[in-house]
Amino acid sequence: MQTTTGTAPGLHAAGLQDSPSAATPLSAGSTAAEGFAVPGFDAVVRLASHSLGVPLVSLVLSSGETYWYTSGGTTPIHSPQALHPFYNEAARHQAGQLILDTRLDERFGDTDLGFAATPEPIRFFASEPVFTLTGQHIGALCAMDIHPRANLSESERSALRDAAALAGAGVVLRSYLGRTDPVTQLPHRNAFFEDMRAHMRDVPHAWVIAIDVAPVQRFNAFIRAMGHTYADELIRLVAQRTQSWMSTDVHLYQVGVTRFAALLPDRNMLIDPARLDALVALLRRPFDCLGIPLTIQPGVGLLKIQASELRGGDPLRLVMSASYAAQSSARGWAVYDHAQDEQQRQEFFLVTELAAALADHTELDLHYQPRVDLDSGRCVGVEALARWKHPTLGPIPPTQFIGLAERAGLMHSLTQWVLDRSLAQLAVWRNQGHQIHLSINVSNTDLSTGLVDRLRQAAERHSVDLATLELEFTESTLMEHSITTRRYLSAIRRLGTGIAIDDFGTGYSNLAALRQMPATSLKIDQSFVRGMTTSRHDEAIVRSVAELARSMDFRVVVEGVETEHIYDSVLGMACDEAQGFHVAYPMPADEVSVWLDAYRGMRSRQAP
Ligand code: C2E
Ligand code: CA
Repeated sequence: MQTTTGTAPGLHAAGLQDSPSAATPLSAGSTAAEGFAVPGFDAVVRLASHSLGVPLVSLVLSSGETYWYTSGGTTPIHSPQALHPFYNEAARHQAGQLILDTRLDERFGDTDLGFAATPEPIRFFASEPVFTLTGQHIGALCAMDIHPRANLSESERSALRDAAALAGAGVVLRSYLGRTDPVTQLPHRNAFFEDMRAHMRDVPHAWVIAIDVAPVQRFNAFIRAMGHTYADELIRLVAQRTQSWMSTDVHLYQVGVTRFAALLPDRNMLIDPARLDALVALLRRPFDCLGIPLTIQPGVGLLKIQASELRGGDPLRLVMSASYAAQSSARGWAVYDHAQDEQQRQEFFLVTELAAALADHTELDLHYQPRVDLDSGRCVGVEALARWKHPTLGPIPPTQFIGLAERAGLMHSLTQWVLDRSLAQLAVWRNQGHQIHLSINVSNTDLSTGLVDRLRQAAERHSVDLATLELEFTESTLMEHSITTRRYLSAIRRLGTGIAIDDFGTGYSNLAALRQMPATSLKIDQSFVRGMTTSRHDEAIVRSVAELARSMDFRVVVEGVETEHIYDSVLGMACDEAQGFHVAYPMPADEVSVWLDAYRGMRSRQAP
């Protein structure tokens, strides 16, 4: 067999006449796969060649590997770049191609659809896509002739299709044997572990590097939008770019659908931050994915492994915790940190527990905190606050589980539950004669057109007047994506429901910008209010913010009124309502009616 290396000119017609022999795979840069031909490839291409009566058949994989079969036998090509771009095109498209005469096809013009191997230019070309057994597209099987043809019969076409299916099975089988991923042709996770153990027999320690292409949710959304062809191509491109950053003695492994790993050589065990910054910068540059420019959100993790600690450990899990954390960091790379890993484990545990709690609702509850009107001293409303009591961990504060629910995509069902539970409760109180309003906290992940419908439907279900409700949004939620947000808020206002700007003062937005929002009230954050006792500065802030907000027609609510002293101070300010421990602590629903019945009113401006 003539094994060609370098550019193709060495592989001339003589190469086509070689006797049959096993082909060698050609994944550029990958050494782990070497020594494995595509099993059954000879038989498959002979079948295609005979059925179609063509002298030349090739299997072109999207990874760049190419196998050729001529009437003489199979021949590998070591330089995929030497191929006419049309072969790569065929390998990347999921549909078959048929060109009866390449001379008549404008894509070829005068260029030969051949490479130096053919004695004459190729005139006839037919291809069928090749898929793995699970449907991933991995290349094309091409049948060619130096003579043009008048047609390709249906039975010839279906023979080519059958041969392509068999070639796909062969590539998958080769992947198992050769420990490679069928899409990227990189060695896969088992190979990584085997090679790592072998490597660590000779060195005391090494660095493992992991590269995450994008957060799983984002990648899945990308697949839903673009399909697997683009996703596979993107992964291949990321692998190529990562390999271009690595020295040639380092092997890249595909250890997950969107994750690569490598063992870095044990030089002096120092990390070079500039090199890692360069890798992140390289991966953050847009990719041209089949003509579509795409950017990814890479995360690069690093872990130092000790040969002595390897037994039973899972270095990939640990380094993934670093690459996961790095994805949302500005720098884009991070070294494994044990405390961070513990936090992620705990978070994961809590997310699954929260999902279960949301399914049966037995551990979740709502507490309500009264709001009083400073003019009349009367209770005018309550704010619903979520509570979660875990059976073994005890009460988990909302400051912890709300953020968790947002990150884990559970906020939709949590808010739905809060809406239903609190509106049902409000209906009970109002039927008892308590003319109070209800405030509900919503997070920015709730802000979508769906929220308006959900609110209207919940009010209908529980026969609650939408004008007795108020939704509280934090300042940062309101200022993010302000144009779409304003549209949603206007729709909520049209229902008659109030909108409060929560925790005002914790963000950096100014009041003038917030006034663009159709909000009805503004809640001054408790951090300033609580500080009023000790800081004249804080008192001045609360006083002037209240005045300014009132002049802009907001109803001003002060939160965190913990003491009588603070309560008396805000009575003298441009504030409309007070909320805080001095008035009442948040309490379970059944205590609220008792409290309301016993409540005789706070000191008010109208009081004698
Ligand atoms: P928030 O909306 O600012 O709610 C007020 C928080 O301050 C509540 O904490 C309340 O218990 C506490 N608080 C009230 N008066 C005082 C006081 O005088 N002094 C002090 N130190 N604290 C006071 P909680 O219940 O722990 O809730 C924390 C946060 O969790 C809430 O802050 C809100 O942002 C979020 N949250 C609670 N329930 C929900 C919910 O159902 N949905 C959403 N999206 N967020 C919720
Ligand atoms: Ca609130």
